Amino acid sequence: MKTILVTGGTGFLGSNLCIRLINEGNKVICIDNNYTGRLDNVKSIIDNPNFTFIKHDICEPLEIDEHINQIYNMACPASPPAYQGKYSIKTTKTCVLGTINMLELAKKHNATILQTSTSEIYGEPIVHPQTENYRGNVNPIGIRACYDEGKRCAESLFFDYHRQEEVDIKVVRIFNTYGPKMNPNDGRVISNFICQALSGQNITIYGDGHQTRSFCYVDDLIEVIIRMMNSEKGFTGPVNIGNPNEFTIKELAEMVINKIGNNSKVIYKDLPSDDPTQRKPDITLAQTKLNWTPKIQLNEGLDKTIQYFKTQINLFRKD
Ligand code: UDP
Repeated sequence: MKTILVTGGTGFLGSNLCIRLINEGNKVICIDNNYTGRLDNVKSIIDNPNFTFIKHDICEPLEIDEHINQIYNMACPASPPAYQGKYSIKTTKTCVLGTINMLELAKKHNATILQTSTSEIYGEPIVHPQTENYRGNVNPIGIRACYDEGKRCAESLFFDYHRQEEVDIKVVRIFNTYGPKMNPNDGRVISNFICQALSGQNITIYGDGHQTRSFCYVDDLIEVIIRMMNSEKGFTGPVNIGNPNEFTIKELAEMVINKIGNNSKVIYKDLPSDDPTQRKPDITLAQTKLNWTPKIQLNEGLDKTIQYFKTQINLFRKD
């Protein structure tokens, strides 16, 4: 039995990971300050004797007595409205101070540590689809920079701890992901569109809707994160993980309207600054090194996600 620490464990991805790790018979220590995570996400495992929740902000050092085998570093506000709003400075602190604290913890425990980096490190990509050796095009002073530059710095810290301190590291770059346990109010496109349609409101497209994203269903993503953590020693990544099927935001809106209907119409709002025009992962490395390909396509994944949001719609805030 492994003891596995998950930071950001009550968030969307963290909670899906904690549940899977518990179901596979591991001991899980879940760390979160619950700024954007929700305890409700882990309610199905909260009484499991192998599961421990510690309310803690990783910007502060963390001591754990029990020996830890693996650390998944997932803590960070991840939706643009969260990291561009009241948590912008906190986002950089979490990426930098929080990552240093977790790398120190990994060093002390001789644990393997995995960083959930992001496609945002590519900024407004000029190379399309994005491969891991593309160095990106980030505006360092824009409203997304706290996240983009924070996550870039976290990657650099990971590789310095690997070179200088011999910490066993793994880095994945996550592209847009959706599915159950998303917060209905986090402001991301899939949660917004589904909750707007379910509550009979208009669907808000930012800009002209021609920008693209490639959406990965959460179960596929959790599978590859676990594969990466348990990959051969010395294979550090970074590895792009996501579903390479690319859609315009307009196409996504049409799919949601076709599935839910409810008289919702599309309305157009201003595009936030530095909103990337296109995004699609090249996943050749994940396919060859981790023997992984996403299985659930958007049509099926949206149906599962709509079912989930039907149970959450009373929480959806109408602005
Ligand atoms: N978006 C939109 N309407 C919304 C929320 C988002 O048109 O209600 C757009 C957003 O401007 C971006 C894309 O959808 O172009 C994906 O946004 P999201 O916040 O989900 O993730 P991002 O990939 O930008 O981090």
